[in-house]
Amino acid sequence: MVPPRWAAKAREQILETLFPSHCVGCAERGSWLCTACLGGLRQCAGGFCPGCLRPSTDGRPCFVCAASCPLTQLFAACPYRQGTLVKAVESLKYTGVQALANPLAGLLVAHLEHLRYAAAWSDAFDAVIPIPLHRRRLLARGYQQAALLAAPVAQHFGWPLREDILFRRRATRPQVGLPQRIRQNNVRGAFVVRGAAPRRVLLVDDVVTTASTMRACAKALRDAGSGEVVAVALAHG
Ligand SMILES: [Zn+2]
Ligand SMILES: [Zn+2]
Repeated sequence: MVPPRWAAKAREQILETLFPSHCVGCAERGSWLCTACLGGLRQCAGGFCPGCLRPSTDGRPCFVCAASCPLTQLFAACPYRQGTLVKAVESLKYTGVQALANPLAGLLVAHLEHLRYAAAWSDAFDAVIPIPLHRRRLLARGYQQAALLAAPVAQHFGWPLREDILFRRRATRPQVGLPQRIRQNNVRGAFVVRGAAPRRVLLVDDVVTTASTMRACAKALRDAGSGEVVAVALAHG
């Protein structure tokens, strides 16, 4: 069971009293990520092949990966290796403060708006799905950072946020530090779809490195009947 929203709000207020917010980039008081540090982050110009992660202007698979890749497109808002962004993503992972998730989700929204303007895609999504954590890890942590990022995105565009479709059926080792081939096996078959699969899905995660997890999710959704699965992450690297 996930703690209710009021519990998260209360926790946030207690945290704010005990540890008043200060920018993770420059330590200025008053917010978790100030507008100057947020505006100073480098952004990704185009997308990535969702199979091999080579740059791809429209985020579609390269000709080598096209036949075997379950993801339709892959995008990330920013390159990950920027001090402020690494600190922000880690703080989000370990504190779960929505006040920190909001400016980061703003980067995702701006990137998606830019992509829509650049005609990378045009149709609405039937579901925005955050990459799920296993129930055990969710219980231990009490929130999941992908959902904290996905909620403001869904709200901004008016697409339904769906956390009741895709589930992690077994706990997997954390992907960080694992070589690509091991990562692929680590998450293969780890996800399951319950109920009707939406036609067009937007998958959301915080950081994409090899996209093995995104592909495993997309495979489960496509096998269950989804037509297109587009993945977007806050950061790549
Ligand atoms: Zn700052
Ligand atoms: Zn490729």
